[in-house]
Amino acid sequence: DRPAVTLLGLGAMGRPMARALLGAGHPTTVWNRTPSRADELVAAGAIRADTVADAVTASPLVLACLLNYEVTYELLEPVTEHLAGRTLVNLSTGTPQEARDMAAWAAGRGIDYVDAGMMATPPMIGTEASLFLYSGSDTGFERYRPTLELFGVARHLGADAGRASLYDLALLSSMYAMFAGFLHGAALVSTAGISAADFAEAAGTFVRATSVSLPAAAELIDSGDYTTDVQSVDFNKAALDRIVQVSMDHGIGVDVVAPIKALLDRQVAEGHGAESFDRIVEGIKHPGP
Ligand code: NDP
Repeated sequence: DRPAVTLLGLGAMGRPMARALLGAGHPTTVWNRTPSRADELVAAGAIRADTVADAVTASPLVLACLLNYEVTYELLEPVTEHLAGRTLVNLSTGTPQEARDMAAWAAGRGIDYVDAGMMATPPMIGTEASLFLYSGSDTGFERYRPTLELFGVARHLGADAGRASLYDLALLSSMYAMFAGFLHGAALVSTAGISAADFAEAAGTFVRATSVSLPAAAELIDSGDYTTDVQSVDFNKAALDRIVQVSMDHGIGVDVVAPIKALLDRQVAEGHGAESFDRIVEGIKHPGP
């Protein structure tokens, strides 16, 4: 009762995905530009397809885990008549517009299209920490949901194929800002000879502890009411002013922290000093001239 699945692309992400499919007992057909990358999977029971056309015709569900959209078009354009009537899940990272364009391309060829964003690293595949975002065809997603859940938590975000990519990029924004903040901190303590390892331990605890306030911040953002009696713009502006000043005093760059100070300065200038720190999101949503 496990549907046959085809996987195109056996890179860092494709290989653990293939192992998850095989582990769950799916008949799994694989194709990769460099065929030797399939050897270990074939030994574990995968079927090797010699051509993309053979791969695509082997299964009703086709997963493409290739470098990018260009490579995906390049491989699939010549086999679209074989793809018609099947579900294509494209897992490569791109922009919302690339996803929408590929959805339109697929619709014009009778292909059921699901776009995906993988919030995981290769070792996370198949663990609870792995989150796979999907958008586009919900019939395709629902039909193959149990299969897609093998890779991690599976969330469908709506019919607009661009939504998975948008959400993916939003999550990555959170991650990059957090890592950049940590790196700024590591640079700052390094001026006193404190190691990054020492700092990482404390920073990890502090970031985990403070991240529990995200839902409370979200409530203010969703309501548009930034009234607060803790953590005002004024309070946080004083902290950012000190961070920027001390960083400059120690001769380290303020590239990471200066933009946060600028967002707070703008809220103060617009008369919102007593409101919550989270109000800087309004300055992000509506950048100044
Ligand atoms: P890899 O670089 O490990 O693998 C890329 C795959 O694309 C390989 O199968 C490669 O084939 C194939 N490929 C590249 N160029 C061509 C081409 N011109 N023709 C045919 N096949 C080609 O990438 P990943 O597996 O890491 O990533 C795949 C997608 O997943 C990317 O879009 C990436 O951004 C995204 N992603 C990756 C994450 C990660 O942690 N690695 C996390 C989240 C998303 P060959 O083996 O022959 O080189």
